[in-house]
Order: sequence, then structure tokens, then C-alpha cells
Amino acid sequence: MAKRDYYEVLGVSRSVSDKEIKKAYRRLARKYHPDVNPGDKAAEARFKEITEAYEVLSDPEKRRQYDQFGHQPYGAGFEGFRTSGTGFEGIDWSSFDLTSQGLGNLGDLFSDLFGGHASTPTSGPIRGEDLHYSLDLDFADAIRGLSTEVSLQKHSICQDCQGKGFKAGGRLEACPECGGSGRRSLSKGPFRMAQTCPRCHGTGRVNLSPCGRCGGKGTVLKTERIAVKIPPGVDNGSKVRLQGMGEPGKNGGPPGDLYIITRVRPHPLLERKGDNLYCEVPITIGEAALGAKIEVPTVDGLTSMRIPPETSSGQVFRLKGKGVPHLKGGGRGDQFVKVKIVVPRDLDIRSQELLREFERLNPEEPRRSLVASYTP
Ligand SMILES: [Zn+2]
Ligand SMILES: [Zn+2]
Repeated sequence: MAKRDYYEVLGVSRSVSDKEIKKAYRRLARKYHPDVNPGDKAAEARFKEITEAYEVLSDPEKRRQYDQFGHQPYGAGFEGFRTSGTGFEGIDWSSFDLTSQGLGNLGDLFSDLFGGHASTPTSGPIRGEDLHYSLDLDFADAIRGLSTEVSLQKHSICQDCQGKGFKAGGRLEACPECGGSGRRSLSKGPFRMAQTCPRCHGTGRVNLSPCGRCGGKGTVLKTERIAVKIPPGVDNGSKVRLQGMGEPGKNGGPPGDLYIITRVRPHPLLERKGDNLYCEVPITIGEAALGAKIEVPTVDGLTSMRIPPETSSGQVFRLKGKGVPHLKGGGRGDQFVKVKIVVPRDLDIRSQELLREFERLNPEEPRRSLVASYTP
């Protein structure tokens, strides 16, 4: 739908003075304001249209640009104008205080509708915030579990005022800034806008004799050392919850929780996937062919493992129960050991002779089936 000319919207000529624009806007705003026409979509649309026109024409710089370019440039990213047009929904109607000064005899109605409802923050108990702490762990500590201490800044109830925030005998008193109403009005164009009082945040009450230690907040920031028990089996990103160790609650509310988030350093030999561990160990040609008892690294230290005769490179053996303890429920994962045959370097003449002899005695063709079925 094509946009109507802003002057036409306000019913004024292009040469009209700023004062006339203001007057025309007030007259139309009184007539079409959504709260005078509840449920009337057409009136609402009209009100938005006149407000948008007024926003542009009441600003000398915007009006000059509008006179020169019309509507075109505004949709194309003129940030100054976007607040009208499509972004209209962004206006918070509850912040308009159309008092008698702005809207003549409808002022009382508007002030009832808009002015009187300073939202008061809840005074009921509020649970404290949760805290998060990142803890770096060694690979083995994550698997075995660990008792440690972490040092972190958190608020605690002020001991001087027991969390009340007052000097002895103090209490909340009427806010001198707003006289206890919680609202402060300021002029903006033809409006008087009501603003939540910045001093009392709309409550109308302030602490005029704050506790010297906490400044009235009732809490002080302290560095605390907290004992932490990390259960066996945590992994990267595991969350350990310490109930009630977060920030203190307000108005008698319960404290929040502290979450320890674990970050596990990698191990040079062992790799973890879920609750299983993986490693690769080198073995000699002789150990692979004849079988052997070898030592392998586990999180519990070195463990001996039997390699059966005729083992090939890449074969995987399982060490049952040598993995990570399950966080939920008992038992542990397994460790999988992959063997890799390593051939000695710089073979001497005698060893070479023996290997040739060995080849003669074992004329195997390990690639026979592979070659027979191969098609490129
Ligand atoms: Zn106030
Ligand atoms: Zn205090």
C-alpha cells in the first residue's frame, strides 16, 4: 500500500509552522488514540500513521529531508526513520504518559490508563543465581575422581547488617526524587513522558541510611575457597552440581547452585571415547609370531597382557574393566589395545640370512585372494 503524504495525514499544508504541526497532531491523537477506541483496528492504524507523520515533521532535519526526498529513502535504511514505519511495534505504549498537558481534557483518562501503574519489583523471596566454574583436570583425575578446592568470587550475606542493607534502626523511606510515586515525568515534544524513577526503580521507596559495609546491597563480594568433590568418570564438559553454593537468595529466598564444568587435558598414550579407552602398543616380529607377555599402560598403571602366538599387526585386544567408571551406576568401561608390529632397522647380515631362510620355510602368499578377485 502506498504511503500517504505526511502533511495530508496531519491535514496541514506544506508551509505550516512547527506549532501548527504540533496542534494538528494533538487534535488527531486525541481522536484516534487506541485507548479512546478500544478494539478499533482502523483507529489504531490511523493513530500509528499520524504519530509516524508527526515524528518526521516535528523534527526540522527529518522534515527537511522529507520535503526534499519524500518517502522513498526512508525504507532503504535511513536508520533515523526506521523507528517509525515498520519498526513501529517497538514503541512501548506503556511509557507514554499523555497527561493533561499533552492532551487537554482527556488527560485524566490517559493518566489513569498510563500514568498510575508503576510496576513495583516483587518483594517476595528470590532464589540466588547459579554460578559456573570451569575446572581443568588431568586425564587420570577425571577418571579416578578428585577432591580439590576451587577459589571463586561470590556474594555473601553482609555480616554487619545481616543482609538487610540498613544501618542500625534504618528502614525504607519515601524516595525524595519522585516523592514516593515511583514515576518521574519529563517533557518530550508535545508529550510528557513518564519514566520509571531511576533512583528508586519505580518502588517509591529508598534506603536513606545504607549499611556502611555493603552500601545497602545486603551482600558483599568475597573470594571463597570451596571444597569440591569430582566423582570418578567425568569427561570434557561434565557438570558437577554443588547445591546451594551459588549466589545468596534475596528476601529470604534460597541460594543458587554452583556448577563445576570439567575440562579434561588429553593423555599422551590413552584416548577416551565415552567410557572406553584406546591405545596402540608396538610389538616385535618375534612377539607377534611366538606370543608374549607384554606391559601396557592403563589408568591404573602398567598392566601385563598376554599376546597369543600368530598375532597380526593391527589386531585389537580387550582389557575388560580397565576403562572409565560409569558416572551413573557401577562398573567400568574397557580398554582396547591395538598391537603394531615394528621391524628392527639396520638388520645385520646374519639376521637377513635367517629371515630369507624363514621365507623359504614359509612360502605363504598372503595377498593371493586379494590379487585373484581384484578388478580396477
Ligand atoms: Zn523514586
Ligand atoms: Zn551490610
